[in-house]
Formats: sequence, structure tokens, C-alpha cells
Amino acid sequence: MNMSGSLQKEDIKSLVEGLNFAQKVDRSMELIHEAYDKFGEKLVVANSLGKDSMAVWHLARRVSPDIRGFIVTTRHKPRETVEFMQEIVSLYPAIRVFKSDDPIPDDLYKTNPNRCCDILKVKPTRQAIEEMHVECWVTGLRCTEGQTRTDFQENEERDQGLVKLNPILIWYEREIWQYLALHQVPVNPLYAKGYRSLGCEPCTAISSGPDERAGRWVGTSKAGGECGMHTRPLKVDYEI
Ligand code: SF4
Repeated sequence: MNMSGSLQKEDIKSLVEGLNFAQKVDRSMELIHEAYDKFGEKLVVANSLGKDSMAVWHLARRVSPDIRGFIVTTRHKPRETVEFMQEIVSLYPAIRVFKSDDPIPDDLYKTNPNRCCDILKVKPTRQAIEEMHVECWVTGLRCTEGQTRTDFQENEERDQGLVKLNPILIWYEREIWQYLALHQVPVNPLYAKGYRSLGCEPCTAISSGPDERAGRWVGTSKAGGECGMHTRPLKVDYEI
């Protein structure tokens, strides 16, 4: 089965609604398998330490325990996430951590959150991709997460020479939890407090309702939005 072609929005919707949990797991494994056959060690998993990333990391390790990963962390991550990161990195030494120590105003997340995300998140992501010689990065992005995530594909090439694979694009939130529970995958303790989408401490709130990302950047122009890792160019040389 070759699943690298692009799908129409309606096709993605029918996969989201039409496949059952087990079929989605098989499809995700197949997508990672195909990409790993093609890219080998140049395929790397991005791990944000959220539930979706942990599911993708587990799926990828089932495809091959040799697959590497990277985490982008920031000075504003909650204590629980930092502790969870330390636990995960000691469990999986194949995961490298990237962080920007650039001097920026302490309140940049308030005055200019886009700039803050560019410096603290997009820049170290670009660094990870360059230093790890990545040609295919694998993410935990899902099209059912919220209004900003409905236009993505399972396979994308927004940057020339860099494929982005979103192998769980069509999973529902509950299917992530189903997978994590069935495989006893460790999860960030912040979920037990009611968070549904995790980010930096000042920009993340507990939320309810249909939009899973509604607790991100509440009260700013970026509300429910994106940090830029999925929307900004990662390979072309542009100034951050
Ligand atoms: S999520 Fe908030 S604190 Fe974190 S990098 Fe973006 S704006 Fe800055």
C-alpha cells in the first residue's frame, strides 16, 4: 500500500469518521513504516511531551527501536513537563533536547507571542532538523484538534527537501487516550489536572468544550492557535 499521495479534505474527513480505532493504528504504523523504509535514520520524531507525541513515539518505536527523536523545550515550560521530559529522556537516550537561550524580554510572551514562539520554539526546531540531518520529521499533529489544524495532510513537503509526516492526523482525541491506555504509555501528569493541550506555562490554560486547543494563548491574538513549528518554513534561510 502506498500512502504518500495527497488527499482531499473530504477524503481525510471520511477517514477520520470511517476508520475504526484498530484500522487507524494500522494506517499510522504503515505510514511510519513506508517513510522509515525511504528515509532510514533521517526520519526523526518530534516529541512535545504531550499525549499525541507520546502515542506517535510509541508507534514509531514499534516500527523500529532505532528511530531517533527530539524535544524542543523552553524556559517557560511547566515544572511537571520538565520533570516528565527528564523521565522520558532517561528512558530513551535516542531523544535529543533542543532549547534556545537567546536573551529576550521576560514578558515577550505577553507583548509579542509570535516573536516569542519564533525564538523559543521555531528556532530550536530548525536547529534540531539541521543538526540531526533530518529529511523526514514525524509529528503528533491531528486534524481533529481545533480550527487551525483542519488543512494538514498526512504527508507534507512545505519545505523543499523536508517531508513532514503526520501519521495520526485522522485520530480522535479519545483514540489517543485509548492507545495510550492499551499500551500503558507514560503521560504528562498535567493531564490529570484537566489540561487537554499542553504548552508553555503562561500560555496554557485548562479548557473544556469541543475545541481541544482552546486553552492555548487565551486572551491573545494567538488564541487557540499555533506556535509556528507547523506553519513556518524550517529549512529556508529566513531571519528570526
Ligand atoms: S508558548 Fe508562550 S512562552 Fe512559549 S514560546 Fe510561545 S509565546 Fe513564548
